[in-house]
Amino acid sequence: MRFDEQTAKGFLAECGFRVPRGRAVTSEEEALEAARALDGPVVVKALTAHGGRGKAGLVRFAASADDAREAARALLARSGIESLRVEERVDIAQELYAAVVTDRSLKCPLLLFSTEGGIEIESSGQIARHPIDIRRGIDPEQLRRWLRLDHALFNDVEWFLMTLYDLYRKLDAELFEINPLGVTPTGELIALDAKLIVDDAAIGRHLELPEIERTETVLERRAREAGLYYLELEGNVGVLANGAGLTMATLDAVRHYGGQPANFMEIGGDAYRKATEALGIVLGNPRVTTLLVNLCGAYARTDVMIEGFLTGWKTLRPSVPVCFSIRGTGETRARQLVADELGVEPFESMDEAVQAAIRHG
Ligand code: GDP
Ligand code: MN
Repeated sequence: MRFDEQTAKGFLAECGFRVPRGRAVTSEEEALEAARALDGPVVVKALTAHGGRGKAGLVRFAASADDAREAARALLARSGIESLRVEERVDIAQELYAAVVTDRSLKCPLLLFSTEGGIEIESSGQIARHPIDIRRGIDPEQLRRWLRLDHALFNDVEWFLMTLYDLYRKLDAELFEINPLGVTPTGELIALDAKLIVDDAAIGRHLELPEIERTETVLERRAREAGLYYLELEGNVGVLANGAGLTMATLDAVRHYGGQPANFMEIGGDAYRKATEALGIVLGNPRVTTLLVNLCGAYARTDVMIEGFLTGWKTLRPSVPVCFSIRGTGETRARQLVADELGVEPFESMDEAVQAAIRHG
């Protein structure tokens, strides 16, 4: 789950990092008040969980409190923006980049650092990447060799990176990024922006994180009323698998091959009786452009599940491409049914089905 700058900066400040003085506001009057209290030039920033605000015009500089109010009015008028951060505008001599990110392929945290931070960082490609052995943490000697910063900044940067890594670990983060990490004209470090993503599976054990109310979508409600467990995600690959465990593995596989799943849908046990409803819900999400069906039979027979699925398919007559992986009890008949009724061959392995579903999306 992504947390906005306000939350991320709160954690940084608690650890002793310097962050610009400021606060979150939700109206232009509050913005005016906040800017007056700061008594000087300010920055008014939209609080969104996603980055790239500078380029989207969502970061405004204001010379006076009245300007700040005007900037707040303009930002709050944009759709999807409900709160802002008003903070002091700090003089910056240099912009650095620092982050700790979980690298799925290396299976370890990566420390990222660059002396060329700022909003162009992604295109500049100047970021040094250092894998961290999670059992040992950051070795200061090694860090010294990595950074090769032999000037006055080094001690501060070293402390900053070590502390950032501790925070990333403590919060079960997947990303803690500071961009830019500003250097003031007197050589002090200050975190001008911060981005935090916490592992979804760890949210429950972090009471220090703000509770983010997630409102139920129309489809989630429909599923709940039908006795199905459905969770809408952000991607385009619709997923139907039997059982929660297989569904989770399928979502991981979709992400592993570079795709984005559109949903979690639990259709285990006797939920195959509700196949038409389940299919209708998964395909009811307008983001779904491709469907992946992954069945694994044990006590439950895959041919019985496929019968339910085909009934749903014939009722709804969807136009999205569908890829199947079918293994286990009843497999031969299930595969035959799919071939006869839909004219498509199930894939030999789950990996192939997943890749094909992503490709067709
Ligand atoms: P992002 O585009 O969503 O990453 O938003 P940022 O919070 O990083 O703001 C965009 C840019 O505005 C930063 O990269 C800085 O260059 C600049 N910026 C933000 N706050 C300040 C500040 O207090 N002082 C100065 N000089 N620049 C700032
Ligand atoms: Mn930034």
